[in-house]
Amino acid sequence: MGGEPNEARVVAAVPKGLLVAGQWGDAGDGGTFDVVDPSTAEVLCAVADATPDDGQRALDAAAGAQKEFAATAPRARADMLMAAFDLLHERIDDLALLMTLEMGKPLAEAKGEIAYAAEFFRHFAEEAVRIEGGYQTAPAGGARFLITKQPVGPALLITPWNFPMAMGTRKLGPAIAAGCTSIIKPAAQTPLSMLALGEILREAGVPDGVVNVLPTSRPGELTEPLLRSGVIRKLSFTGSTAVGRVLLEQSAEKVLRTSMELGGNAGFVVFEDADIDEAVAGALAAKMRNTGEACTAANRLFVQRSIIGEFGERLAKAMSELPVGRGVEEGVRVGPLIDETAREKVQTLVDDAVAGGARVLTGGTAPDGPGYFYPPTVLTDVPVSARMGSEEIFGPVAPLTPFDTEDEVVAEVNDTEYGLVNYVFTNDLRRGLRVAEALESGMVGLNQGVVSNPAAPFGGVKASGRGREGGRTGIEEFLETKYVGIAM
Ligand code: NAP
Repeated sequence: MGGEPNEARVVAAVPKGLLVAGQWGDAGDGGTFDVVDPSTAEVLCAVADATPDDGQRALDAAAGAQKEFAATAPRARADMLMAAFDLLHERIDDLALLMTLEMGKPLAEAKGEIAYAAEFFRHFAEEAVRIEGGYQTAPAGGARFLITKQPVGPALLITPWNFPMAMGTRKLGPAIAAGCTSIIKPAAQTPLSMLALGEILREAGVPDGVVNVLPTSRPGELTEPLLRSGVIRKLSFTGSTAVGRVLLEQSAEKVLRTSMELGGNAGFVVFEDADIDEAVAGALAAKMRNTGEACTAANRLFVQRSIIGEFGERLAKAMSELPVGRGVEEGVRVGPLIDETAREKVQTLVDDAVAGGARVLTGGTAPDGPGYFYPPTVLTDVPVSARMGSEEIFGPVAPLTPFDTEDEVVAEVNDTEYGLVNYVFTNDLRRGLRVAEALESGMVGLNQGVVSNPAAPFGGVKASGRGREGGRTGIEEFLETKYVGIAM
């Protein structure tokens, strides 16, 4: 692996068109848009730019395939997912390189994401054959209740750029398992991974029209008519809370089922009784995974006052030692941010915290040169009023704030509109469980810095969204419950 010929080869190999009704083709108006490598700011290639008319074609294809697909044997749908699982693993090196080129994350992390993405297919292949119903006697006797599950219908799936493959399989896995057809719109900055996945699903035997892939540079123009069409019955969205709110409003017209995986503002709490090695390792994982560009990234680190000095020093040392560079280079642990806007936002938030009294322990200034790099940064004594206390940093910056008591820190962590995930480090079991229960978030990492797992229910409360992906319940998001009342 490695070397530019390989890079050119994987980019050349990926389809650049729209996948509609099982066929790759150009956009209706022939339009394209560029995909850029964030580590060089150079154009990798151009891909077809779907228009609203292309959206209508995909809608017709998804609607046309729905009835037959809903009637396929669950085992057949499971087999398609397992075939795709195998293909993802067979091609993991090329797919990881492609992802690193379009998104920037280091190759090892990209490989980890492909394996994680494939796991959603295996998990939902296993769920496809376990869709259960019920049969019971009415409490008053006599009548019987027959309860069964049916696919909700054609779904619109919209994914972000930060996990270009896994956010797709996390939706497509349960959609296919449940028997729903779909239109998937990847983020404009990272369409290549999804285009590669579209081809894999075709090769895995997914019937024509069941999965339609539409990259576009004008997302709202494409998706709003789909949501208002009355044909799409389900929206599954992963992205920012701001866009999520707009899509929820649009989905209200036809009262669509919605799953919304939105922004986060994770608290990371270290009590003085924690194992400090574990806490530093956990902070490194929770902060630096995906260069901090994750909804689950530790955004606010609260450290008990007696240990904040030692914790800050050790975290700053560990972060400053992480090699920064192009993700394709051997040993690199921190890639570039996605674009200049993202980098400027990170710098603005750091400058704001410093102006408010924060001290820089490491990093803090963007380097010169090509690519959108930002150094791993640790700030301490960050005031809770700093902008980064309420806004997603989405970059490799760890802001530390001291706290004194358990009650105080729980109140501070909960003082945000978000509620996706929080992390707690303590060796006191009772305290750990007490705090985990008191935190207002869909997920809590107790003495661990990563919670994502395809077999666990992922999702948030408050402005972080609604619905859960993965786990036993992930497939329910794509199923309707039907009850048949039977007179006896
Ligand atoms: P974003 O701007 O909300 O974009 C997400 C997706 O929505 C992209 O495909 C985007 O297309 C599309 N989009 C944007 N405006 C739209 C519109 N008006 N109508 C329809 N679609 C529209 O978010 P992002 O910056 O890509 O991703 C980062 C955000 O995602 C963060 O807030 C992060 O916390 C969140 N996230 C959440 C989870 C979770 O599971 N909770 C996981 C990962 C990320 P374009 O690419 O063309 O803009």
